[in-house]
Amino acid sequence: MPILLAHAETKMTAKTFDLIVVGAGPGGYVAAIRGAQLGLNVAIVEREHMGGICLNWGCIPTKALLRSSEVFHLMQRAKEFGLSASKIDYDLDAVVKRSRGVANQLSGGISHLMKKNKIAVFMGEATLPAKGKVSVKGEKGTDELTAKNIVLATGARARELPGLEADGKLVWTYKHALNPPHMPKKLLVIGSGAIGIEFASFYNTLGADTTVVEVMDRVLPVEDAEISGFAKKQFVKQGMKIMEKAMVKKLDRAKGKVTAHIEVNGKVEKQEFDTVISAVGIVGNVENLGLEALGVKLDRTHVTVDEYCRTGVDGLFAIGDIAGAPWLAHKASHEGVMVAELIAGKKPHAVRPESIAGCTYCHPQVASVGYTEAKAKELGYEIKVGRFPFIGNGKAIALGEPEGMVKTVFDAKTGELLGAHMVGAEVTELIQGYVVGRQLETTEEDLMQTVFPHPTLSEMMHESVLDAYGQVIHM
Ligand SMILES: Cc1cc2nc3c(=O)[nH]c(=O)nc-3n(C[C@H](O)[C@H](O)[C@H](O)COP(=O)(O)OP(=O)(O)OC[C@H]3O[C@@H](n4cnc5c(N)ncnc54)[C@H](O)[C@@H]3O)c2cc1C
Repeated sequence: MPILLAHAETKMTAKTFDLIVVGAGPGGYVAAIRGAQLGLNVAIVEREHMGGICLNWGCIPTKALLRSSEVFHLMQRAKEFGLSASKIDYDLDAVVKRSRGVANQLSGGISHLMKKNKIAVFMGEATLPAKGKVSVKGEKGTDELTAKNIVLATGARARELPGLEADGKLVWTYKHALNPPHMPKKLLVIGSGAIGIEFASFYNTLGADTTVVEVMDRVLPVEDAEISGFAKKQFVKQGMKIMEKAMVKKLDRAKGKVTAHIEVNGKVEKQEFDTVISAVGIVGNVENLGLEALGVKLDRTHVTVDEYCRTGVDGLFAIGDIAGAPWLAHKASHEGVMVAELIAGKKPHAVRPESIAGCTYCHPQVASVGYTEAKAKELGYEIKVGRFPFIGNGKAIALGEPEGMVKTVFDAKTGELLGAHMVGAEVTELIQGYVVGRQLETTEEDLMQTVFPHPTLSEMMHESVLDAYGQVIHM
């Protein structure tokens, strides 16, 4: 088993470290590596899998599943591209096997990185019995570790609402949806955030009759309203049923079917499904660690931290999902680097949540960074808004992906890029261009002066900026 090997081969018998990281997700393992790079003697504790939710049950296996459904969708469009494909079908077990294989490969890679960086790995359940102490209950007994600095990176799990709890057969969380006991025929997805919509997109593309119920007034409610509206139209075109301002009040479970009681416009209607995916948010893993006794402040199920992830208890930090929104792997990793640098005596910049991009890998993809148009107005900015549709871009048409748009929001006074919002093919790869722009505090002028390669989808990012200033070319 590679994880135990990593521990044994580092021959770290010392139980006192400069830094102990609890949780080996993208927050924890990155903090541990950065700490080791800076010369700290580091230990990491993990109770389940190296790589955390992200590599094992989140970001990576979902993208592997979505790649299968994307290829399946493209195969069905073969004729459009002058190709032929017959008897197009899928084998769900094989699709899932590939996804699990990708997750396992990456999780194994993290064990290798721990070994390479001489980080001591303790497999077991951690608790914090006192300041500067971590107790690890593993299969072979308990290890008592001490360190001046401890980073909590214990992540989060699916939120369960009363009456809508998962049972793994008829009602699933994301874990069941990633390793499904059957292919849903009639699927209800509760919640249209990134997790809900990605699964809705995957199963709908494979042929499940899919209904999404969202309590807010639109799908993907954290996105810019125009982008949500555009994405919704595409989902509906693909056959999904979207119920907004609707709430699942109750699930009646019987053999092979679930009757959902859905409240819309003050009336409750009943609909039958064979599978329900509950994607109503996440809760932080804050329990049974001993946090209350240490005086750590909690905000509902998350640890309260300052902009440097300090908990208020000397030498105790919290990063990633346990430290609150945005619940994203890259936010967790970035906080991990920042905290390790702080502990090693460097002077890192605090993480700026408004410069962290959010990506949803549904079909079409959605990506954004910074303020939505509504938020910018609410904050009192006088704004300029640019838009560019995929239909005006040569590469999008050549790819057969003419549906989508790029929207940019600028501060009319200073030209600062306040926000960028995209829907369409490959936008999750494109958004990073605007993220770099925001990091460098770029203005409309820099973006307009930048030469974008042709033919690329990125040209739409240029055109959207030009549109905000009345200089758009291809529209
Ligand atoms: C279905 C799904 C899809 C997602 N897709 C994306 C995506 O595309 N992009 C993105 O950025 N984010 C995505 N996320 C979110 C992302 O997975 C999380 O933001 C990220 O994993 C948080 O990292 P973390 O290090 O804070 O915690 P985690 O990854 O949750 O890791 C925490 C680790 O701590 C361990 N642990 C907990 N308690 C203890 C204890 N007491 N002792 C020892 N170990 C403990 C856990 O076993 C776990 O391994 C997705 C999430 C889900 C569920």
